[in-house]
Amino acid sequence: MVGGNAFDVLDAIFAQTLKSRIFVNRDVLGHEYVPNELPHREEQIAKLGAVLAPALRGSKPSNVFIYGLTGTGKTAVTKYVLKRLYAKAAELGVDIITCYANTRQDDTTYRVILKLGECLGLRLPFTGISTAEAYRRFIRIADARSAIMIIVLDEVDFLVKRHGDELLYRLTRSGEDLSHTKISVIGITNDLKLVEDLDPRVRSSLGEIELVFPPYNAIQLEDILRQRAKLAFYPEAISDDVISLCAALAAREHGDARRALDLLRVAGEIAEREGGPKVTVDHVYKALKEIERDRARELIVTMPLHSKLVLLSIYTLTRDGGKVTTGEVYAHYKSLCQALGVESVTQRRVSDIVSELDMVGLINAQVISRGRYGKTRIISLAVSADTVVEALKDDPYVGRLLLRD
Ligand code: ADP
Ligand code: MG
Repeated sequence: MVGGNAFDVLDAIFAQTLKSRIFVNRDVLGHEYVPNELPHREEQIAKLGAVLAPALRGSKPSNVFIYGLTGTGKTAVTKYVLKRLYAKAAELGVDIITCYANTRQDDTTYRVILKLGECLGLRLPFTGISTAEAYRRFIRIADARSAIMIIVLDEVDFLVKRHGDELLYRLTRSGEDLSHTKISVIGITNDLKLVEDLDPRVRSSLGEIELVFPPYNAIQLEDILRQRAKLAFYPEAISDDVISLCAALAAREHGDARRALDLLRVAGEIAEREGGPKVTVDHVYKALKEIERDRARELIVTMPLHSKLVLLSIYTLTRDGGKVTTGEVYAHYKSLCQALGVESVTQRRVSDIVSELDMVGLINAQVISRGRYGKTRIISLAVSADTVVEALKDDPYVGRLLLRD
């Protein structure tokens, strides 16, 4: 029977997972999970809580601007404080509306307004009315509620960069349009330079209160992981050395708790797949490789053709472990363009592409001086050659070149 084998394979996989004694609850290591304890954010929680508390007495809280690098707990802290505030308001019978929108997901001004409407039970049409009209309807319904509305615009740098700060401007001045309801805005950004892109009036009203989330150090990350590991794993399946290693590896980047949790989760998944009784340090190193490979792969497959060709040149010239200069890369790149029959870009542009590849961590490009010959860059791959080929193979053009040699 044809299906017989597949059936047995699945049976084996199911049985493996069911008898595994690694995870009690893997979901608590997922990105969406908001824990009830947030170690090392007591100060930010207290400050945000103090800013928002007046809402419980019907006063409009100050607007807040929150910034910090990715994985420093901005979203988790904000959601946690709002959840607690909402619960307290319900207990007291005070009408507080909390509304969360992530502008990387709801990526136009219109979509954000749709989301704000949803928080009020207002179903705005997806199309057919102007943004200004949608905003007017939102304001009308909001005002009819006579409540305090707290709006979180998470990753707001995405909205501002693509569509400007008009909505922020409107919301922070909404007091002029409202008679009964009061709106406060919490803007969150990973991009510390965002402030420079804002209209000075938005900057001053949004930045009434500023909250900074510094990166975690390795010891803090350990505490975060330990607390989460207690919920995620069977006690016998996890050990302190595994947690310390995940924390140390994530601290090496910039103290990103998300990276640390990812490492722990993937290490657990690998342990489960291998059918072992516990997560080991070895699993963590494997997880690191797997995560880096996936990240590199995602970067590569979405690159434009000429970036891929430059990367292919670097790969081809360095795969025996060597290093190359920008000039050598350019010469090779040109021959690839010729082979494909596409027009090449200038050496200047190739040099920029090299910088871009360096910046996203796919290659290392080190500037060295060559005396009177000026400066050049010595380039090598920063990720494994296998990862590069695997990802480049998927491109129809570049794949053809790879088949050639
Ligand atoms: P940011 O929004 O700053 O990018 P997040 O709030 O999404 O970061 O945090 C990333 C991940 O790390 C989430 O899963 C979050 O629950 C967790 N996390 C961050 N800070 C803490 C903390 N202090 N304690 C427990 N978990 C945390
Ligand atoms: Mg976030």
